[in-house]
Amino acid sequence: MEEGGATAKPRRATGRLCSTCNQRKAALKRPKTLEQICRECFYSVFEDEIHNVIMDNNLFKPGERVAVAASGGKDSTVLAYVMSELNRRHNYGLDLFLLSVDEGITGYRDDSLETVKRNEIEYGLPLKVVSYKDLYGWTMDEIVKTIGLKNNCTFCGVFRRQALDRGAALMKADKLVTGHNADDIAETVLLNILRGDIARLSRCTFITTGEDGPIPRCKPFKYTYEKEIVMYAYFKKLDYFSTECIYSPNAYRGFAREFIKDLERMRPRAILDIIRSGENFRTATSTKMPEQGTCERCGYISSQKLCKACLLLEGLNRGLPKLGIGRARGTNGLNKRVEQRNLRPERTGSSIESKQCGTLDF
Ligand code: SF4
Repeated sequence: MEEGGATAKPRRATGRLCSTCNQRKAALKRPKTLEQICRECFYSVFEDEIHNVIMDNNLFKPGERVAVAASGGKDSTVLAYVMSELNRRHNYGLDLFLLSVDEGITGYRDDSLETVKRNEIEYGLPLKVVSYKDLYGWTMDEIVKTIGLKNNCTFCGVFRRQALDRGAALMKADKLVTGHNADDIAETVLLNILRGDIARLSRCTFITTGEDGPIPRCKPFKYTYEKEIVMYAYFKKLDYFSTECIYSPNAYRGFAREFIKDLERMRPRAILDIIRSGENFRTATSTKMPEQGTCERCGYISSQKLCKACLLLEGLNRGLPKLGIGRARGTNGLNKRVEQRNLRPERTGSSIESKQCGTLDF
């Protein structure tokens, strides 16, 4: 177990009184502020901070139908629980439901979906599951059998993003909420700076994205630390699934994530500071941004003739899976240069919207 990492058990406070209520014994040290705090006060500040983020950013309107992207992992389980609590407590008036994606990974997703099904009952939120098999005609098991364990997460990430949008549209949702947390967003800011990806840098700190697309996506955990999510789930004894995907690349965390964890160890505020830096970046008006259109084939939002999912699918269906990864010749009269740019793994890979790994949650 990683020392001080997202899976580490909460560090217990030692014999002091809670710095918030000054009455009960402190039970933990808050990772975000290093305050010694009791459980009850921790629950309150954790939930109140999320409520304030929702209110300050006008994330929802009364009567909206909101899909909670649910993988059964810690982030989305806490998100489902907290959203349903806050909705009730503060009368948001939201019609919440759980939306899960079945990638078709035997021994992994089938088990984590069982967790989501238990949450459906426990939180009283209806569940809709959309599958890769139904949407694309392929399961991840079949894809991995065809392409092996290289680039599998590129397919999975691109397909998942679209599957969530399609599921939300099918269920007539007005919004989709995902469990992306502050650590994820700080990581994306760093990656986009290192890559010089101006288009993504300018939008990766937005709390709501896709307002011009089919379903706007919101991140109520934008300022919530991963370690606090783990603590909350641990103390509340929430039922979540923490096994890693059987197709997960070993080094999925990568440099940026480790770097952020190091910074956090030295200075907990570093995560928030990186997010604030990302928010304060201004893109020069002369910078050419990709124009959003729709995919010629499926109608999904795309800045190219075909969306990424259709391009990857074309490769799979033609028995040329590498086509979708941008190493092969053009397809069906597509502009080869555009296609290859569109399909370079680094461009399809690690945007926060298509988060690479199920173990990191949606
Ligand atoms: Fe999909 Fe994540 Fe598994 Fe990769 S590690 S195949 S992205 S669930």
